[in-house]
Amino acid sequence: MRLIFFGPPGVGKGTQAKILSSRLGIPQISTGAILRRAVSEKTKLGLEVSKYLDEGRLVPDKLIIDLIAEELVQPDAQKGFILDGFPRTVPQAEGLDEIFGRLHLKLDRVLEISVPEKVIINRLVNRRICKNCGEEYNLIFRPIPEDGKCENCGGTEFIHRSDDTEETIRKRLEVYKNETQAVLGYYGKQNLLSKVQGNEDIDVVTQNIFEALKIKG
Ligand code: AMP
Repeated sequence: MRLIFFGPPGVGKGTQAKILSSRLGIPQISTGAILRRAVSEKTKLGLEVSKYLDEGRLVPDKLIIDLIAEELVQPDAQKGFILDGFPRTVPQAEGLDEIFGRLHLKLDRVLEISVPEKVIINRLVNRRICKNCGEEYNLIFRPIPEDGKCENCGGTEFIHRSDDTEETIRKRLEVYKNETQAVLGYYGKQNLLSKVQGNEDIDVVTQNIFEALKIKG
Protein backbone atom coordinates (compact mmCIF):
# COMPACT_ATOMS: atom_id res chain seq x y z
CA MET A 1 0.00 0.00 0.00
CA ARG A 2 1.14 3.53 -0.71
CA LEU A 3 -0.26 5.91 1.85
CA ILE A 4 0.06 9.52 2.94
CA PHE A 5 -0.64 10.45 6.58
CA PHE A 6 -1.74 14.05 6.63
CA GLY A 7 -2.51 16.73 9.20
CA PRO A 8 -0.94 19.52 11.25
CA PRO A 9 1.94 18.83 13.64
CA GLY A 10 0.97 16.97 16.81
CA VAL A 11 -2.07 15.02 15.56
CA GLY A 12 -0.25 11.68 15.88
CA LYS A 13 0.77 11.09 12.25
CA GLY A 14 4.19 9.82 13.31
CA THR A 15 2.85 7.62 16.10
CA GLN A 16 0.20 6.04 13.89
CA ALA A 17 2.49 5.73 10.87
CA LYS A 18 4.97 3.84 13.06
CA ILE A 19 2.27 1.39 14.21
CA LEU A 20 0.87 0.81 10.72
CA SER A 21 4.34 0.50 9.28
CA SER A 22 5.13 -2.41 11.57
CA ARG A 23 1.70 -4.07 11.15
CA LEU A 24 1.72 -3.77 7.35
CA GLY A 25 5.45 -4.42 6.89
CA ILE A 26 6.08 -1.26 4.88
CA PRO A 27 8.44 1.61 5.78
CA GLN A 28 7.41 4.88 7.36
CA ILE A 29 9.08 7.70 5.45
CA SER A 30 9.13 10.78 7.68
CA THR A 31 10.65 13.84 6.02
CA GLY A 32 10.92 15.59 9.42
CA ALA A 33 12.90 12.64 10.87
CA ILE A 34 15.19 12.49 7.82
CA LEU A 35 15.88 16.23 8.08
CA ARG A 36 16.46 16.09 11.86
CA ARG A 37 18.95 13.23 11.39
CA ALA A 38 20.79 15.30 8.75
CA VAL A 39 20.91 18.26 11.15
CA SER A 40 22.25 16.19 14.03
CA GLU A 41 24.86 14.54 11.77
CA LYS A 42 25.80 17.99 10.39
CA THR A 43 25.70 16.78 6.76
CA LYS A 44 25.58 19.27 3.87
CA LEU A 45 21.77 18.86 3.79
CA GLY A 46 21.60 19.29 7.57
CA LEU A 47 23.52 22.56 7.54
CA GLU A 48 21.28 23.84 4.75
CA VAL A 49 18.00 23.06 6.51
CA SER A 50 18.66 23.59 10.23
CA LYS A 51 17.48 27.20 10.24
CA TYR A 52 14.15 26.26 8.64
CA LEU A 53 13.53 23.55 11.24
CA ASP A 54 14.43 25.80 14.17
CA GLU A 55 12.05 28.48 12.93
CA GLY A 56 9.22 26.07 12.08
CA ARG A 57 9.32 27.07 8.40
CA LEU A 58 9.07 24.70 5.45
CA VAL A 59 12.29 23.79 3.67
CA PRO A 60 12.24 24.57 -0.09
CA ASP A 61 10.02 22.31 -2.22
CA LYS A 62 12.73 21.23 -4.67
CA LEU A 63 15.00 20.01 -1.92
CA ILE A 64 12.28 17.92 -0.27
CA ILE A 65 10.93 16.52 -3.56
CA ASP A 66 14.46 15.36 -4.53
CA LEU A 67 14.82 13.76 -1.10
CA ILE A 68 11.53 11.84 -1.49
CA ALA A 69 12.46 10.76 -5.04
CA GLU A 70 15.57 9.12 -3.57
CA GLU A 71 13.62 7.43 -0.76
CA LEU A 72 11.00 5.92 -3.07
CA VAL A 73 13.54 3.96 -5.11
CA GLN A 74 15.06 2.28 -2.02
CA PRO A 75 14.57 -1.52 -1.96
CA ASP A 76 12.44 -1.47 1.21
CA ALA A 77 9.95 0.96 -0.38
CA GLN A 78 9.10 -1.37 -3.25
CA LYS A 79 6.26 -3.12 -1.37
CA GLY A 80 4.69 0.19 -0.37
CA PHE A 81 5.25 2.96 2.19
CA ILE A 82 3.65 5.51 4.47
CA LEU A 83 4.62 9.12 3.83
CA ASP A 84 4.57 11.06 7.09
CA GLY A 85 4.94 14.84 6.81
CA PHE A 86 5.05 14.95 3.00
CA PRO A 87 3.60 16.51 0.85
CA ARG A 88 3.17 19.82 2.70
CA THR A 89 2.48 22.12 -0.27
CA VAL A 90 0.56 21.75 -3.53
CA PRO A 91 3.82 21.91 -5.58
CA GLN A 92 5.13 19.01 -3.43
CA ALA A 93 1.95 17.02 -4.17
CA GLU A 94 2.44 17.73 -7.89
CA GLY A 95 6.10 16.71 -7.58
CA LEU A 96 5.01 13.45 -5.96
CA ASP A 97 2.59 12.76 -8.82
CA GLU A 98 5.42 13.32 -11.23
CA ILE A 99 7.66 10.83 -9.36
CA PHE A 100 4.80 8.29 -9.23
CA GLY A 101 4.26 8.71 -12.98
CA ARG A 102 7.95 8.10 -13.65
CA LEU A 103 8.03 5.00 -11.42
CA HIS A 104 4.61 3.73 -12.63
CA LEU A 105 3.22 3.79 -9.09
CA LYS A 106 -0.25 4.60 -7.80
CA LEU A 107 -1.17 6.33 -4.56
CA ASP A 108 -3.76 4.29 -2.62
CA ARG A 109 -5.03 6.73 0.00
CA VAL A 110 -4.45 9.98 1.88
CA LEU A 111 -5.47 9.78 5.52
CA GLU A 112 -6.22 13.05 7.28
CA ILE A 113 -5.93 12.98 11.08
CA SER A 114 -7.45 15.90 12.97
CA VAL A 115 -7.23 17.09 16.57
CA PRO A 116 -8.37 20.42 18.14
CA GLU A 117 -5.62 23.06 18.16
CA LYS A 118 -5.59 23.45 21.97
CA VAL A 119 -4.88 19.74 22.34
CA ILE A 120 -2.08 19.92 19.77
CA ILE A 121 -0.20 22.63 21.67
CA ASN A 122 -0.57 20.77 24.95
CA ARG A 123 0.66 17.54 23.37
CA LEU A 124 3.70 19.06 21.71
CA VAL A 125 5.09 21.27 24.49
CA ASN A 126 5.02 18.22 26.77
CA ARG A 127 6.40 15.76 24.21
CA ARG A 128 9.67 14.00 25.02
CA ILE A 129 11.33 11.55 22.65
CA CYS A 130 13.70 8.70 23.41
CA LYS A 131 16.98 9.67 21.75
CA ASN A 132 17.81 6.04 21.02
CA CYS A 133 14.60 4.62 19.47
CA GLY A 134 12.25 7.56 18.90
CA GLU A 135 9.56 6.29 21.30
CA GLU A 136 7.39 9.24 22.32
CA TYR A 137 6.42 10.19 25.86
CA ASN A 138 4.35 13.05 27.21
CA LEU A 139 4.99 14.65 30.58
CA ILE A 140 1.23 14.67 31.27
CA PHE A 141 -0.36 11.73 29.42
CA ARG A 142 2.53 9.27 29.24
CA PRO A 143 5.38 10.27 31.56
CA ILE A 144 8.92 8.93 31.18
CA PRO A 145 9.09 5.77 33.40
CA GLU A 146 10.19 6.39 36.99
CA ASP A 147 13.39 4.38 36.53
CA GLY A 148 14.30 6.82 33.72
CA LYS A 149 14.47 4.03 31.14
CA CYS A 150 12.59 3.93 27.84
CA GLU A 151 9.95 1.17 27.90
CA ASN A 152 10.81 0.21 24.37
CA CYS A 153 14.62 0.08 24.32
CA GLY A 154 15.91 0.92 27.81
CA GLY A 155 17.46 4.16 26.53
CA THR A 156 18.04 6.83 29.17
CA GLU A 157 18.21 10.05 27.15
CA PHE A 158 15.05 11.91 26.23
CA ILE A 159 14.87 14.86 23.86
CA HIS A 160 12.64 17.91 23.87
CA ARG A 161 12.57 18.86 20.16
CA SER A 162 13.85 22.41 19.70
CA ASP A 163 10.77 23.23 17.58
CA ASP A 164 8.37 21.93 20.27
CA THR A 165 8.20 25.28 22.10
CA GLU A 166 4.87 27.11 22.23
CA GLU A 167 6.11 29.95 19.98
CA THR A 168 7.44 27.63 17.26
CA ILE A 169 4.41 25.33 17.49
CA ARG A 170 2.15 28.35 16.80
CA LYS A 171 4.33 29.22 13.83
CA ARG A 172 4.15 25.62 12.53
CA LEU A 173 0.34 25.65 12.87
CA GLU A 174 0.19 28.92 10.94
CA VAL A 175 2.40 27.43 8.20
CA TYR A 176 0.03 24.45 8.09
CA LYS A 177 -2.98 26.73 7.57
CA ASN A 178 -1.30 28.96 5.01
CA GLU A 179 0.67 26.47 2.96
CA THR A 180 -0.27 22.87 3.74
CA GLN A 181 -4.04 22.73 4.17
CA ALA A 182 -4.59 23.37 0.45
CA VAL A 183 -3.14 19.93 -0.26
CA LEU A 184 -6.43 18.47 1.09
CA GLY A 185 -8.29 20.01 -1.84
CA TYR A 186 -5.75 18.54 -4.25
CA TYR A 187 -6.41 14.97 -3.05
CA GLY A 188 -10.11 15.56 -2.31
CA LYS A 189 -10.66 16.26 -6.00
CA GLN A 190 -9.08 12.90 -6.80
CA ASN A 191 -11.33 11.11 -4.25
CA LEU A 192 -8.30 9.85 -2.36
CA LEU A 193 -9.08 11.35 1.03
CA SER A 194 -10.18 9.54 4.22
CA LYS A 195 -10.54 11.20 7.64
CA VAL A 196 -10.18 10.11 11.25
CA GLN A 197 -10.31 11.94 14.58
CA GLY A 198 -6.99 11.78 16.41
CA ASN A 199 -8.24 12.93 19.81
CA GLU A 200 -8.74 9.40 21.20
CA ASP A 201 -6.57 6.69 22.75
CA ILE A 202 -3.77 5.61 20.44
CA ASP A 203 -5.20 2.10 19.86
CA VAL A 204 -8.70 3.47 19.15
CA VAL A 205 -7.23 5.80 16.51
CA THR A 206 -5.28 2.88 15.01
CA GLN A 207 -8.47 0.82 14.79
CA ASN A 208 -10.32 3.72 13.15
CA ILE A 209 -7.49 4.08 10.64
CA PHE A 210 -7.74 0.40 9.68
CA GLU A 211 -11.48 0.86 9.21
CA ALA A 212 -11.06 4.07 7.21
CA LEU A 213 -8.53 2.35 4.96
CA LYS A 214 -10.75 -0.75 4.72
CA ILE A 215 -7.93 -3.10 5.67
CA LYS A 216 -7.80 -5.75 8.42
CA GLY A 217 -6.05 -4.67 11.68
P1 AMP B 1 7.81 17.23 11.31
O1 AMP B 1 8.71 16.28 12.04
O2 AMP B 1 6.99 16.56 10.26
O3 AMP B 1 6.99 18.08 12.26
O4 AMP B 1 8.78 18.25 10.53
C1 AMP B 1 9.69 19.08 11.22
C2 AMP B 1 10.19 20.20 10.31
O5 AMP B 1 10.87 19.65 9.18
C3 AMP B 1 9.11 21.09 9.71
O6 AMP B 1 8.70 22.13 10.60
C4 AMP B 1 9.83 21.65 8.48
O7 AMP B 1 10.78 22.65 8.83
C5 AMP B 1 10.62 20.44 8.01
N1 AMP B 1 9.83 19.59 7.06
C6 AMP B 1 9.41 18.31 7.26
N2 AMP B 1 8.73 17.85 6.21
C7 AMP B 1 8.71 18.86 5.30
C8 AMP B 1 8.13 19.02 4.01
N3 AMP B 1 7.42 18.04 3.42
N4 AMP B 1 8.30 20.21 3.37
C9 AMP B 1 9.01 21.21 3.93
N5 AMP B 1 9.55 21.15 5.17
C10 AMP B 1 9.43 19.98 5.84
